[in-house]
Amino acid sequence: MHAQQPGCDILLTNGKIIDGSGNNWYYGSVAIKDGKIFKMGTNLSVTAKKTIDASGLIIAPGFIDVHTHLEGDEASDPTAKSFILDGVTTCITGNCGSSNVDMAQYFRFIDSLHLSINVGSFIGHNDIRKEVMGRVNRAATTAELQQMSSLVDKAMQDGALGLSTGLIYIPGTYTKTPEIVTLAKVAAAYHGIYATHMRDEGDSVTEAIEEALTIGREARIPVEISHFKLSGQQNWGRSKQTVAMIEAARKEGIDVTIDQYPYTASSTSISTLIPDEILADGQDSIRARLTTPRIRNYVTTSM
Ligand SMILES: [Zn+2]
Repeated sequence: MHAQQPGCDILLTNGKIIDGSGNNWYYGSVAIKDGKIFKMGTNLSVTAKKTIDASGLIIAPGFIDVHTHLEGDEASDPTAKSFILDGVTTCITGNCGSSNVDMAQYFRFIDSLHLSINVGSFIGHNDIRKEVMGRVNRAATTAELQQMSSLVDKAMQDGALGLSTGLIYIPGTYTKTPEIVTLAKVAAAYHGIYATHMRDEGDSVTEAIEEALTIGREARIPVEISHFKLSGQQNWGRSKQTVAMIEAARKEGIDVTIDQYPYTASSTSISTLIPDEILADGQDSIRARLTTPRIRNYVTTSM
């Protein structure tokens, strides 16, 4: 008499299993029950409601896309096919200093959509600075810095993964390093991460990397440099220098990591071509400046 074999819902057979822990791949099967891995191995003896032959395919945990900008598009396709079909099951948003300010409300919104992907978010420095100070081109006062710190604190309590900056965007460009160190310390107290779209990815890239590392060192926070790249043909090949800086910092004990686009282009908004001081304050101020012939001429020649 045969013993009753344990049953599962889905059995993936004959796949190359890459378990995500750094182990070598091996051929095997994965049994799934109630949405969870029930058993895995080379010779599974289980019955299944559905068997999928994974010959010639890889069976791996879902990928985590650490750099997305989902804001505004969450509801457009709850199945998130563009991610799922690439094997991505978790997206991290709120990058480059841009996020929702009220994280609790944001995560409730995400939950209400029943997306096919998991979503995590950073709290974006540009948005909390705008919330407290608008788009003014000056340093924060002590009171303003305290208000921003409380917003970061609240976001971390609500589940944010850390602080992100976008230092080529307004008002990040108006922000000096110490302000970021102060806010990064708040995130660090919750074991958060500091993710940065650096102040420069072109001619001054080494100074920008130094700034990111300084923030990591002084706030004692892991640093993730977003879309690590070199802009401008004159900078091609400088990765010998920039990658060496990251390796040296890691040897020094700074927990710094980088991510990269899988293609050789980059994209952002055209406003980054306009000098920072022209973009201060509200739309009316910007428009008024641009009607002055002298300023208009300055903007067009500097683009
Ligand atoms: Zn960015």
